[in-house]
Formats: sequence, structure tokens, C-alpha cells
Amino acid sequence: MRKDEKADIELDRDYEAIRQIPPALDEGSERKKSPSASSSFARGRTGSIMVGGARGNRGEGAGANRRGKGEASYRDKGAKRRSRGRRAKMKEAVYRQSEEDVLLISKATGCCKSRGGLVFALLLAFVLGAGAGLGGGYYLWGWERPYMVDLKAVEVPGWVTQDFIRKNIFSRPDVSRKRVNNIVIHYVANPGSTARKNRDYFDSLADQDPQSGKASASSHFIVGLEGEVIQCVPITEIAYANAPRNEDTVSIEVCHPDDTGKFNDATYKSLVNLTAWLCRELKLAPKDVIRHYDVNGKECPRYFVKNQDAWKQFLKDVKDAMP
Ligand SMILES: [Zn+2]
Repeated sequence: MRKDEKADIELDRDYEAIRQIPPALDEGSERKKSPSASSSFARGRTGSIMVGGARGNRGEGAGANRRGKGEASYRDKGAKRRSRGRRAKMKEAVYRQSEEDVLLISKATGCCKSRGGLVFALLLAFVLGAGAGLGGGYYLWGWERPYMVDLKAVEVPGWVTQDFIRKNIFSRPDVSRKRVNNIVIHYVANPGSTARKNRDYFDSLADQDPQSGKASASSHFIVGLEGEVIQCVPITEIAYANAPRNEDTVSIEVCHPDDTGKFNDATYKSLVNLTAWLCRELKLAPKDVIRHYDVNGKECPRYFVKNQDAWKQFLKDVKDAMP
């Protein structure tokens, strides 16, 4: 068919070449064009005939085309016209056929029917809604991931002395919690003071006048100058050390010999062990160990705030101390 068309175009070109002035020939060209107009009319007629049995006519059209091919080689204008008519017929048949196919596909998918469209839209809305619901649920679930630690079941090792301070509004408010997200390291900011002295100070705050008392402080653990560890407040309760993060943190106060805030070796070793043990028990990682400074910007613990490398080394030592 393409070859045939090419022959047609060539014929037209030849004619165009001849079709220079004189005007008499120009008229001829109009006559040459007219058959195509009549063929388009024929196309319309055949089209209306085709509607009934496009499938059968399709083969007939193809046959006609084969015949048209042979006839066209004679370059007889009349034959050419008939050939064009047949080609038009065939095109029309193919067109009708593809139209029928589209209709069949439409029927099968139901996408062009109004009711089918509604069902499809509802289905799409349902799928999208379910997806959004699942996504949102997953997001929320991920945000509030289940907490697997039972704080009440955590038992301190033998090297930790439990000596809880009295319940009072200034240092042990008796507020329970079920979750710990961070471990916060402090320094006592009182050079040379012992763990016992600091523990007793927290306990003494209970003696303040409830109306006029102003001092409020405490810590879950204190690590002393000789490496001793005293627990002042159960980890199931909040202590007053990490505001505004008292709700979900465990605090460790650390004693130091001088104003630099650097811990001695015994204290440091105990602090590493205590922090590593807490990480294990509370299912936390070294990255969950933070400084008081990281909570509210206070210069505490001083040595680890002023010496970033020492802080990083401490976290590394904690990691190494975890089995
Ligand atoms: Zn602090």
C-alpha cells in the first residue's frame, strides 16, 4: 500500500512539473484534483456501508488493494481512481475495526460507561484511602514505637549502693514514669565533694519550708571520687536534674577533684561502667547518652563541654564497655 501511495505521489509530482502555465493545463489540474474529492465522497458512502460488517469488508478491502496495486502500474487514471476508492474503503474498514476494538476494550474495562466509571472511581478512592490510612498508621506506630523495657524489673549491680533520699517536693517528687530515652551526664560543680555529701545534700532539701523553699535538685546516681556509686532516686521515678527533660531521662552526677571538672581515673572508670550498664538495661545506645549541656545549654559537665574530644572518647569507652 505504501509503495502504491508512493507511485501516486510520484504521479502527482510529474503532473505538477507539467502543470506550469499555460492556464489551460491549470484547468486540467483542477480536473485531476476532482477525483480525489469524489473519492472522499465515496469514502463517506462506503463508511456508512461498512458499519454493518467491518470485519468481512476488511479482507475484501485488502484484496481490492492488491488488485489496485496491479492496475496502478498501468498508470491509467480511471484505474487509479478506482484504486484510490478501494484504498479509501480499506482505510475506512481498518478505522471502523479499530473503533470496534476500542469499544470492546471499553466494555471489558467499563471505563467509558458512567456506572463503570463510578465503580472505578470508588475503587480508586478506596485504594488511596486505605493506602493513606496504612501510611499514617505506620507513621504513628513508628513514632510511638513499643517500649520493651520494664523499668521496675531493672536490678542494680552489686557495686551500686541504693540509698534513696526522702520523698519530697524539692528533690524526690514521687512522680513515676515508664520510659527512659536518654542518660544525662553532669558534674557536681563542687570540687572535692564526695558522693555521700552530695547525696545528703539532695536529701536535706526535703527539710525546706514547702512555702518558702527555693532549692530544688537531685540525681538518680552519683559517682564518687573513689569510683563509688550511690543511687538516690529509683529509675522508675523522675529526679530534678535535667529540666525540661526530667520526664524521660536518667541523671548521673559525677564528683571531681578540682575546678576544671575533669574526673579522676577511678571516677571515670566507674562512670563508664555505670553508663554502659544503664545503656544495656534500658536498651539505649551510646548516642542516647547526652550532656546536661545538650539538654539546656548549661556548662555541665564542664570538662566534657570544654573538651569535645574527651566527650567523644567517653562515648567510645561506653560503647566498648557494652558487651
Ligand atoms: Zn548538670
